[in-house]
Amino acid sequence: MNNIACFPGKYIQGSGSILQLEQLINRFGHKAIILASPTARKFLPEQFFHSPLSQQLVVETFGGESSEPALTDFMNRIQIEQADVVVGMGGGKTIDTAKIAADRLGLPVIIVPTIASTDAPCSGCAVTYTHEGEFEKVHYQRLNPSVVLVDMEIIARAPTRFLVAGMGDALATWFEARSCAANDEQNECGGFSTLAGQKLAQLCYDVLLKYGVQAKADNEATIISPALNYITEANILLSGIGFESGGIASAHAIHNGFTALPETHAYYHGEKVAFGLQAGLQMIHAPEEEIREVVAFCHSVGLPISLAAIGLDQLSKEKLMIVARKSTEQGSTIHHEGKDITPEKVFEAIVKADAYGKHFASVHE
Ligand SMILES: [Zn+2]
Repeated sequence: MNNIACFPGKYIQGSGSILQLEQLINRFGHKAIILASPTARKFLPEQFFHSPLSQQLVVETFGGESSEPALTDFMNRIQIEQADVVVGMGGGKTIDTAKIAADRLGLPVIIVPTIASTDAPCSGCAVTYTHEGEFEKVHYQRLNPSVVLVDMEIIARAPTRFLVAGMGDALATWFEARSCAANDEQNECGGFSTLAGQKLAQLCYDVLLKYGVQAKADNEATIISPALNYITEANILLSGIGFESGGIASAHAIHNGFTALPETHAYYHGEKVAFGLQAGLQMIHAPEEEIREVVAFCHSVGLPISLAAIGLDQLSKEKLMIVARKSTEQGSTIHHEGKDITPEKVFEAIVKADAYGKHFASVHE
């Protein structure tokens, strides 16, 4: 087994960096199709449509779900338009649809995240959901995106809840990478982790603890501060390389379990991952000070620390067991935490995390 790390071809982050999109498209091909979420569309600069590029540009509005039927539609559109560059512009689901479609057609993909809510942009894997919004499958691409282009003017204007959710996703990265290394489990590149994967995951956690609260305040005030820049990099680049090259484990597995309950669908990926991490730490009997640090961080930035905060108040054991069973399915990354992980253990860990968080909130309100 090899040590493998995966990286995007190029990562660009700055104020007004969207203006580089035209030049980037020209470097990769002759005709681009931009898959843009309805809100992302308005961030395309006006001058874009009056430039020579506008003749070789198609903008397609993303329908909302990263699913097989949506992929088929988008791939047909790419082929009809004879586009040779794909641009995915928007949130996680737009990005994932663009990545999978481009990979299946063997085309380069440029990713322009308009929110820093997940670590999807930099990775070479993407997720599909069923029509009902339940997690379906992870798809692995041959290569990571050719370019990830992050415009801070766009990120700073996005609702703060997205940045906070991104911190939730990034928060799990180091702990999951650590479990994979400790238990000799594979990362998301199909190998063992490299020092680069481990170190970037750890740096991601350190940056969150140091700048998370300030970045949230700056995002609320639409200030492109150093803290907001660092957290954007942590959420998108450090967490992206960290999870893919370090590996994932219980936090994401328990997140996937939560998606089985429609009550959680109004909550973002990173919000559920953050609570999944807290349950995962309970499950492996992590040291209390470590659990406290994670819960305190979540509380300080407004990430969920109870089941109620992800829509699951007053749940029956039966319903939580649906989550526990889904998160322990064969092949689930929860098994990267060690042997003998059963649905009962996950159920108990979720209940413990909920009790811990509720108690923490009651004494720190
Ligand atoms: Zn994630």
